[in-house]
Amino acid sequence: MQGMQENLGKVIVLLYWEKSTWYSLGALAASCQKNQLTFKTIKNDPVKQIQEQLDKNFLVIYGESSRNMSLNGLKERLRKIRAQISSARLFIIVGGPHASGDPQSILDMGADIVVIGEGEVTFPELVFNIQKAQNKEKITNIPGIAYYNATGQFIKEQTRSPIVLDNYCPYLDNTSFPLHPPIELMRGCAFRCRFCQVGYMYGNPRFRSIDNVMKVVKHYYEFFNPLKKQVDIRFIAPNSLGYMEKKRGQANTDALFNLVKRLKKYDIRSFFGTFPSEVRPEYITPDILSLFDNLENKTVSVGFQSGSDRVLRYMHRGHTVSDGLNAQDYLTSYGLTPLFDFLLGAPSETLEEQWETLGLIRELGKSAQVRLHYFMPLPGTPWANYSPSPLDKNIIAEIGRLARVEIITGEFAKQIQFSNEND
Ligand code: SF4
Repeated sequence: MQGMQENLGKVIVLLYWEKSTWYSLGALAASCQKNQLTFKTIKNDPVKQIQEQLDKNFLVIYGESSRNMSLNGLKERLRKIRAQISSARLFIIVGGPHASGDPQSILDMGADIVVIGEGEVTFPELVFNIQKAQNKEKITNIPGIAYYNATGQFIKEQTRSPIVLDNYCPYLDNTSFPLHPPIELMRGCAFRCRFCQVGYMYGNPRFRSIDNVMKVVKHYYEFFNPLKKQVDIRFIAPNSLGYMEKKRGQANTDALFNLVKRLKKYDIRSFFGTFPSEVRPEYITPDILSLFDNLENKTVSVGFQSGSDRVLRYMHRGHTVSDGLNAQDYLTSYGLTPLFDFLLGAPSETLEEQWETLGLIRELGKSAQVRLHYFMPLPGTPWANYSPSPLDKNIIAEIGRLARVEIITGEFAKQIQFSNEND
């Protein structure tokens, strides 16, 4: 009882681990630790775990990240929490790409406050303010948040300046729930493809310096090496070959080769330009290919997106079908396998253009793999309110056939279902 009294006024942060959003959790948890906040990472059903902390007299801040494809799970969790716990000492904060693009939809699901954009600075600041105010109505004037005020008016505070990646640790491991996501090389993108949230959410690219990346690699190596024989290092970047680029569209070969050379100092397997990242096709040029000599992956993920130049232009991709075909030639002639990402169902795409794309995929499939996606309108993008172009039954039959002969992979069927449910 005495312990419970001691907790009065104290705050605990519960960060929810979910398999499709956990990459951002490492940085957020590290930022909580840096700010000496009391926090825990939790998974599975959050209701019991929130209630336990409330019973100990903590004020509980429950945090989640949101992405389009995991939205139904988030909605259900928030519904259950709100239905089973009614306490003025519980605050629900949600961030991530969906919340940033469409904060009101997340507030309507039951969140108290939404973090827009990067969370590393906003989230701890918000926690300090909640701790001080102990009351939702007093939380105002914090850049990078949105909420409904006491009269039900939607308020979106001013945006926050982008962070310097080197100043923020991307992992957390001195707890019982270690988090080691792929190492984030860059954030933001200078291209503004109309279907993609990256450039609209994070702005132009910022880079983690090579020295800082190597500091993280060293830490990962020292953490994992005693636990198992093989240490695998993966990177995350919207366009891996754009790492440290000085000019949009041109790879910084000096920086890329320097990074890979430094990675060689460790007995690790490095995966670059592969899941969860990809590269743009025009960055694949003959002088970049030997970069892969010292990397583990012999497959490179490339965003090709459409077999129609008109659709590529409409997407604002900034490359052509020929650029994709050149990437295919360069990679395969060097013994590498391209894994092309394509997007079907883009707004305004005609049936003829869909066949163009599938015809191209069939050809590429002789020496490449293809991951096919269905267009989903993402909040915060110029196509947020656009519907996907429908697919007729012959197109769907052909996709099925290409999947059966293993040319096409991906979560196409799930994406069609999701798109229809949320239309
Ligand atoms: S799709 Fe790729 S290149 Fe286009 S804006 Fe997004 S991250 Fe940048």
